[in-house]
Amino acid sequence: MTSLPTQPVKGMRDILGTQARAKKRIEFIISQTAQKYGFEPMYVPIVENLSVLTAKGGAGEEAGKELYTFEDQSKRKLGLRFEFTTSLARVMVGNPELPKPIKTLNVGTVYRYDNPQALRYREFTQADGDIIGVKNESAELELICLSIEVLQKIGFDSFYVRVNDRRIVNELLKLGKVPAEKTNEALRILDKLDKIGKEGVEKELQEKNILTNILDYLDNPLSEIKSAVENASVTQPLENLFSFLEKMDKLQFVKFDPSLVRGLEYYTGIVFELFAGVNVAVGGGGRYDNLIKSLGGPDLPAVGISFGVDRLMDVFGEKEDTPKLDVYVIPFGNTFNEAFQLTQDLRAQSLSVEIDLMQRN
Ligand code: AMP
Repeated sequence: MTSLPTQPVKGMRDILGTQARAKKRIEFIISQTAQKYGFEPMYVPIVENLSVLTAKGGAGEEAGKELYTFEDQSKRKLGLRFEFTTSLARVMVGNPELPKPIKTLNVGTVYRYDNPQALRYREFTQADGDIIGVKNESAELELICLSIEVLQKIGFDSFYVRVNDRRIVNELLKLGKVPAEKTNEALRILDKLDKIGKEGVEKELQEKNILTNILDYLDNPLSEIKSAVENASVTQPLENLFSFLEKMDKLQFVKFDPSLVRGLEYYTGIVFELFAGVNVAVGGGGRYDNLIKSLGGPDLPAVGISFGVDRLMDVFGEKEDTPKLDVYVIPFGNTFNEAFQLTQDLRAQSLSVEIDLMQRN
């Protein structure tokens, strides 16, 4: 008899014990905080029609390469969700009557045929908060304040939000004389800055015959970029956001970084990423004002943030064990019934209580 594999599929994992409790705690903090901000829970299927996941104007070619795809028994072409934004946009296309603004929170597993390595899996949990219907930067303000509060509640003592705007990147690409037809290619390469460093990016740009002088602009402060670019109005949305954040005394958590691109193609405006303790993002998001329209729906502006729940667990999880129990009840002799009654009374007081079910001597 051949034995069945006991290990999960490559890039996926079983999460048990301390780690599982740490993950639950993080999910709970995100859900509770988002609820306080008025986000409504929502559930969408893990399986989507492939045409939705690969729609033009959606996440783009690079995301498409990482899709899990299959045919069901009726030969429908399907795929597993790789994030929540595309599914949410589909819901908005199908339900145009929903009153705006809409604030939703989706928590669940997503699937990417990524190269598995430390902090990078093929199945992982995201918690995705989105605001649909708000054109001005108060939506970004809410998502960034929510993110700061979540990271503080988890217990990180050092973290920051990296912020940029796709419109600024586009202006910088113009300054760097990147032709329009090579924009997506250049963005894809720039998105690898954290992974392969400036030299790696330079090499890849050269290989694609894209001038590397865009790299010269990527360390500049917002004021210098404003005076360098052709269309200075592209810095206004970020200036508005920073002014909001300053009034809320949150500016110390935020860093402008013109090299932040974000991989998915549907972003149109402000983009951000959360960094806490490690050199990879524990969350990311941004504005995607054209996605719902390009899937055939109404012209609805939208912004979202996706927390990488597994990554937050991996980065923070080991520091603090969530206590499993408040009380453990051990019945002596023939006292199981009384002991179980006591257990139930303590549970009624919201304590976490376990009783020795195996009734050992
Ligand atoms: P993204 O929109 O792709 O930046 O994803 C949002 C967040 O999900 C990231 O900031 C990560 O924290 C997390 N994430 C993305 N890809 C993976 C992965 N392969 N494994 C674990 N977490 C991931």
